[in-house]
Formats: sequence, structure tokens, C-alpha cells
Amino acid sequence: MIQVEHLTKCYGDVMAVRDLSFEIDEGHVYGFLGPNGAGKSTTMNIMTGCLSATSGRVLIDGHDIFEEPKEAKRLMGYLPEQPPLYLGESPVEYLTFVGRAKGLKGEELKHQVTDVMAQTKIEHVAHRRIGDLSKGYRQRVGIAQALLGNPKVIILDEPTVGLDPIQIIEIRDLIRELGRTHTVIFSSHILSEVQAICDRILIIAHGKLVAFDCPENLERDLLTQNQITLTTQAGPDEVQEVLDRLDHLSDITFQAKEGGYTQTHFHTSHPKPYEMTRQLFWAFAESDVPLLEMTLKKASLEDVFLELTETAPAQEDEAEEMDEEVEEA
Ligand code: ADP
Ligand code: MG
Repeated sequence: MIQVEHLTKCYGDVMAVRDLSFEIDEGHVYGFLGPNGAGKSTTMNIMTGCLSATSGRVLIDGHDIFEEPKEAKRLMGYLPEQPPLYLGESPVEYLTFVGRAKGLKGEELKHQVTDVMAQTKIEHVAHRRIGDLSKGYRQRVGIAQALLGNPKVIILDEPTVGLDPIQIIEIRDLIRELGRTHTVIFSSHILSEVQAICDRILIIAHGKLVAFDCPENLERDLLTQNQITLTTQAGPDEVQEVLDRLDHLSDITFQAKEGGYTQTHFHTSHPKPYEMTRQLFWAFAESDVPLLEMTLKKASLEDVFLELTETAPAQEDEAEEMDEEVEEA
């Protein structure tokens, strides 16, 4: 449905999007997840033809967004981060105006305006000033305008930002509902929100795609940072000797506890954490070092998100900076 190929966008010296490639299939709800400044809005603005790219291309159902903007744009409805709502107009006036701009007229225009107002549940405020509506209702008007013209894909940039908790739940429900009839892509910097609504997650950090999968796979494949803590009466050397016989362990640290006990902490990258704890149990038993306590703390998707979006790219940036310094020296 949508192909994004090697997309790069520079604002002067700032590289907001770096060689981004991904594909969107029909019939899913995609969450575009990343911290502020990750490049979500820039990418969405380019995908929807509102912003030019420095390089790369975007195909919407085979139509290049830059070469055939009319055909490509017709397939997408977009709610930008700052929707251009006319506060003095009523939803029905505004939607009629947007519908006309999208090429609708006559009965079809009337019919669609009524239809999108029903879908976004704003009929009862249809004749009020948009400026007098709550932020939640304004956001619904914004989503309603995206739905005009019956686009296959709905793209929403941070649709829940600035809303109160109840409004957030309502907008999330609305997104879920739209997902039944449309391909939906929405951005957010809140992991739990993306997890709650999407069946595909794209994690973007520093303008790069760092992960793209369904929530379950992301949890399964990326959770290599499960933590294990052991308590033994044996000292660090003895514990280390046992651990040396096993694979998939890293970052081992020891902590002496009162009464001659040792607490050992480490990470495991074993894909099956319980298989790891089973091996540990037997290794200690066979070495006659009784395990007094063993705890496994499974990493959460939150940990993965933080690690992917903060630690890894930041280190890379540092590495790049260091390279530059070396070159200068
Ligand atoms: P997000 O939507 O994920 O918060 P943006 O796409 O808005 O991220 O921004 C990505 C990066 O590009 C940020 O570092 C931001 O400061 C920068 N940026 C965005 N828009 C502009 C602009 N018009 N001019 C210069 N820099 C910009
Ligand atoms: Mg943004």
C-alpha cells in the first residue's frame, strides 16, 4: 500500500530523517513510535506530500507522492500535528470547505460531511464555533476532515497530545474503530498507547527506523536484557567459576551481603529465559554450590523502547562525534 524508500530529510545541518525505509500493508493499524524530535512529523509530512524530501521516494499504491501527487494524495487522509482548523467556523462549515477542496460537490459532499461527522460522533456540535469546542472535539473535527474523500489510509500525527485522560480514551477508541475500515498510521511518543491500539509498531529514533514488528514479536525478539539475580553462600570466585561454564551471560557483578552471602547480578540474552534459569540451577547443583535464591526480571517493552531510542543511537552519535574529533585532530 505505502512504500517508503531511503527517505532522508535535512533541515540545513539537522538531519531529521536518515535513510528511512519501510512498507505499510493494507488493513492494519500502525503505530509510529518515537521520542520527541525523532522525526515522526517530518516523515508523515513527507509521506502525505506536505513537505519535500532531500532524497528517497514514497509510493502510495504505486503512485509517487512527488511525481503523481494528485493520485497519491487522494488515497490518504491526514491529520497534521497542528491541524489548520478555522476557529470561527462550525464543524459543518469547515468540513464542507475541506470537502470542496478535496473535489467533492453537491449531494456527494453533503452526504460525506454527514457521514464523517457520524463516524467521529460530532453531529451534536455540528453548528457550534470550532473555537468554542473542547480540545477533544476539535481533534475529532480534525479526524473528520481526514476522512473526507474516503481515503484508504488515515495518517494521524500525535492525535492524543494535549487531551485529558477521558478524551484520550475516546480518541483511542475512535482510532481502533477506524482501523476496522481503514489502514491507519498514527504517531505517538507514548509506548503504552501504541501497544494498546496497534498491531504493528515502527520505532523511530534519531530519524532512523530501529524496530518494526507486531508488539508480541518485539517483546519476544528484542528482550535480550532479562536480568537474573542469584544469592549463594559461595564467594565471587566460586560463583564466577560456575557461570563460566554457561553461555548467554553478560555484565556479571557481585555484591557481598551480610553473613557471608554473595549476590550476583547479570544479564542474559538467552531467547528462553526459563531455559537459562534451568541451566543455572543444574550448573550450581552439580558444582555443589547451593542456590539460595534466584530471581528473573524480564525486561518490558518499555525497557526495550528506552534502550532503542535513547542508549543505542546516542552512543552512535557520540561515536560519530568522536570520529569527527579524530579527523579534526
Ligand atoms: P517528532 O515529530 O518525532 O517530534 P520532528 O519530525 O518534528 O520529530 O523533528 C525531527 C527533527 O527535525 C528535530 O530535531 C527537529 O528539531 C527538527 N526539525 C523539525 N522541523 C524543523 C524545521 N522546520 N526546521 C529545522 N529543524 C526542524
Ligand atoms: Mg511530531
